[in-house]
Amino acid sequence: MHQTIDIEQLCAERGLRITDQRRVIARVLSESDDHPDVEQVHKRASAIDPRISIATVYRTVRLFEEAGILDRHDFGDGRARYEAAPEAHHDHLIDVETGKVVEFVDPELEALQRQIAAKLGYRLVDHRMELFGVRQDREG
Ligand SMILES: [Zn+2]
Repeated sequence: MHQTIDIEQLCAERGLRITDQRRVIARVLSESDDHPDVEQVHKRASAIDPRISIATVYRTVRLFEEAGILDRHDFGDGRARYEAAPEAHHDHLIDVETGKVVEFVDPELEALQRQIAAKLGYRLVDHRMELFGVRQDREG
């Protein structure tokens, strides 16, 4: 599901000024498929350019988020995690033991959510679905 999204290209389309440091951060985010938090983005970006501070990463991800280029998630551990805003919608299942994030799309679930909204008198325009689970083959 994670086709590499070119964040640098999206910045250009949205008229965001792209500096060298922002370019590195954009590339790190484009290449990450694991929903990293700011510290993980900083670790990867500073490996490429050691001058990049965590404050710069914070500012840059906020900027990208406000421009609709990044999606922010909270998967229940209190850390904001980021991914390039996907072109196609998907939902997340979080392994509560390992923190692994599994992406999925279920057409029946999508339809059911639209039906629920309609029953309540609404047309659905967006939703977030986060499932939290433990792998069955690791249980007793
Ligand atoms: Zn995702």
